[in-house]
Amino acid sequence: MREQEHAMKLSITSIATRNACLLCAALREFQNDLLKHLKPDDCRRFCNTHGWLMANAGPAESVAAIFLTAILNQDWRPASPVSEECDLCSRMHKEKERRLEEIAKQLREPKLRSWLHDYGTLCLRHGREVIHKLPEALRESIQELISRNSAETVETLEDFLQRVKEGSHAGGGVLGRAAEFLVAQRGTES
Ligand SMILES: [Zn+2]
Ligand SMILES: [Zn+2]
Repeated sequence: MREQEHAMKLSITSIATRNACLLCAALREFQNDLLKHLKPDDCRRFCNTHGWLMANAGPAESVAAIFLTAILNQDWRPASPVSEECDLCSRMHKEKERRLEEIAKQLREPKLRSWLHDYGTLCLRHGREVIHKLPEALRESIQELISRNSAETVETLEDFLQRVKEGSHAGGGVLGRAAEFLVAQRGTES
């Protein structure tokens, strides 16, 4: 048990040092793995995003079978990107809940909390969801982490805007990072 806890701590800090929201990073990893090992029966209904993710990243045999089943079923309709409709959105939602509980539990440890406060990254969406899972007394630290990440995003956006006004269009990755901060990494959330 001790070793397992240690491994989880290592994984949360190693995810966090990638300079991306740790929940976004965990969800992306989960989704990549899910797509890679997709079986023909794993997905009957799917949304636009997951249709394309399967087409681009799923095992060809499974995805062809999934698409054939859908096309040959006259009642098949594209799903909205919600867990009640899309089978893969549903898997992502369950994983997110599991991860949120895990992070909230780990944040009860002062050392990890202060490390995350100083060096961690959370997007706005996931930051608020983490806060929602925490007891009142532990919320301030994560609120400060979100404020720091928010201020960093504002600063790079303002710099970028200034350069655009001066006629330079370099550094478009700034907009992608701002989108990531606001709505989470592409394809990890609906
Ligand atoms: Zn996130
Ligand atoms: Zn979906």
